[in-house]
Amino acid sequence: MGKPVPALAAAGDVGLTALPGVGKAVAEKFAARGLLRLQDLWLHLPRQYEDRTRITPVRLLQPGVAAQVEGRVEAVERGFRYRPLLRVAIGDDSRATLVLRFFHFRSQQVNQFRVGARVRAYGTPRPGQQGLEIVHPSYRVLDDDADGELGDALDPVYPAIEGIGPATLRRLVAQALERLPPAEELELVPAARLGDGLPSLRDALVTLHRPPREADVAALLAGTHPAQRRLALEELLAHHLSLRRQRIALQAHAAPALADDGGRVQALLAALPFALTGAQQRVFDQIRADLARPSPMLRLVQGDVGSGKTVVAAMAALIAIGSGRQAALMAPTELLAEQHLANLRTWLEPLGVRVAWLAGKVSGRARTAVLAEAASGAAQLVVGTHALMQEGVVFRDLALAIVDEQHRFGVHQRLALRDKGAAAGSVPHQLVMTATPIPRTLAMAAYADLDVSAIDELPPGRTPVQTVVLGAARRPELIERIRTACAEGRQAYWVCTIIDESDEVVAQAAQTTWEQLTVALPGLRVGFVHGRMKAAAKQATMLAFKRGELDVLVATTVIEVGVDVPNASLMIVENAERLGLSQLHQLRGRVGRGSLASSCVLLYQPPLSQMAKQRLETMRATSDGFVIAEKDLELRGPGELLGTRQTGLADFRIADLARDADLLPEVHRIGEALMRESPDIADRLVERWIGGAARYAAA
Ligand code: ADP
Ligand code: MG
Repeated sequence: MGKPVPALAAAGDVGLTALPGVGKAVAEKFAARGLLRLQDLWLHLPRQYEDRTRITPVRLLQPGVAAQVEGRVEAVERGFRYRPLLRVAIGDDSRATLVLRFFHFRSQQVNQFRVGARVRAYGTPRPGQQGLEIVHPSYRVLDDDADGELGDALDPVYPAIEGIGPATLRRLVAQALERLPPAEELELVPAARLGDGLPSLRDALVTLHRPPREADVAALLAGTHPAQRRLALEELLAHHLSLRRQRIALQAHAAPALADDGGRVQALLAALPFALTGAQQRVFDQIRADLARPSPMLRLVQGDVGSGKTVVAAMAALIAIGSGRQAALMAPTELLAEQHLANLRTWLEPLGVRVAWLAGKVSGRARTAVLAEAASGAAQLVVGTHALMQEGVVFRDLALAIVDEQHRFGVHQRLALRDKGAAAGSVPHQLVMTATPIPRTLAMAAYADLDVSAIDELPPGRTPVQTVVLGAARRPELIERIRTACAEGRQAYWVCTIIDESDEVVAQAAQTTWEQLTVALPGLRVGFVHGRMKAAAKQATMLAFKRGELDVLVATTVIEVGVDVPNASLMIVENAERLGLSQLHQLRGRVGRGSLASSCVLLYQPPLSQMAKQRLETMRATSDGFVIAEKDLELRGPGELLGTRQTGLADFRIADLARDADLLPEVHRIGEALMRESPDIADRLVERWIGGAARYAAA
């Protein structure tokens, strides 16, 4: 980059007690909000602005629009109606009157408001008994000869800090800003890399704390002002660098180089009733290359529902096993874990692989036996739920940790499984899989610490699911539809959803539907699963459906993730308007898994909100998980899409991934260059934005 690195921005790295009037007690109140250093106050940006740079004639006031007025007191009324009351009428040259109304006031205040006194007030007018009024305005009584000069910057309103009044907060932030170093000293992102149109960091901060009166307030409030984009860019960059650094720290560890599968992968492929898709083969090749290296793999495999991730995981496990080591596969629900267990046993046991099972309900002697097998290495692959991470679970040499549907787990859980294999300077390889497609840009931000592969092709012969959207009044027609499908030997799901209600209410609604369908479909076997059932009962019902012993399965959204019944060709979702796009996509993915022509009926309860209409329309128009994810991001924002547990992405101070997504390619570019050429600057960016927090997260 050529340019000498500026001296450490010591000015910002100072504790808050450096500010006059800030002692230990006040500093602690700031600390409770994560504000420790001067630079944290620089980044504590206003959430609102008050424009006292101009005076609005009273006649032009609009209800609900904050404004500053100046006038003379025309009348004062002090009364008591249920509680103390002070009403001050002021009028101005526009010959209109505004009432200032107070419920809390001191008598000294009453005395200030002599008739004829000059008052300047700021607040939001609302319709009152006699025209507009402002309740508890901020105000000043001016001397008649005061020049009443107006400021030239908007006043900031800061997010509140408990225990610190707004005026004090404003003063302290202003004092912190006085210590902003000159632009060149503050700047860490090389100007040449910043691109056009974005201000320096210093200018951006000054603009945001005290915007000039002509500033585009609408843009400021929308978060799209160039000053905000400048900060968002830097924050995203710091976040990116922090993830990359964690990754480098991880890769400094050794991992067992796994190269020899002992012919097992070939044997598995020869035994499978299908050939791998090109995408499966490609992703497996990437994994195989990763595993052969003596540093830990950290790879995310994204693949739409039904894209065939499980078999890829099985092949990866075979490489670990062929190299004389162990593998573990963890899934978020027991149902899903058992399904994996069944598949993996079918595929791997004929190859002589010992597959063990560990879930919460495995107890007593069975549990002791599994633990012994894991510890001795006799269990070559252990499949299970969260139970795998528990204390007491010890592997002889876990070399590969596979986590399915990883968005259901927190980062810490994923790491906990990895730590099961950590031994003397070596960590296991990690393979995480998700069926929640994430838009590419977002994946770059959220997973900068992972390599990402996509299985972006479905196995051949799948006919796209036909999706129809129907009002709930059409429900009776569906009974016929189910009858027809089942007469042809197929099976159907009927999913009941009620969001924001307790599980119990959903279970009841589903129960009612189940009873209705049982009556309406004599001769068909209708089963019922819901979230409040005992795991064993749920399991038994699911299994019966899978085996074709049930024709129709009424369910709550418990069946959302991963369940695989290729013979099911009809999916009906009630109250589909209440579900998010990714959930709908997951549900629809339960059908169309075989070669049968399948359909999905989304029933809705009118009237539809604008958002719901867009969601259902998106579902009708496309079955591409990535397109759906993009739309979901647009409609809901990234926090919900990714789950905050996983990434902490909701903790941005300024950036908003949905709003600022277009900055991400830039962030990526600058980030990679900094990592390469100026790691010291990268460190300081992380320190500035993430500070101490990053040190704890580094794992
Ligand atoms: P997901 O990626 O959603 O976890 P699965 O691994 O459950 O998908 O695979 C879905 C179904 O497709 C399973 O029945 C699986 O055996 C089957 N399958 C996987 N790969 C192929 C393939 N290449 N050709 C045909 N069927 C496949
Ligand atoms: Mg799966």
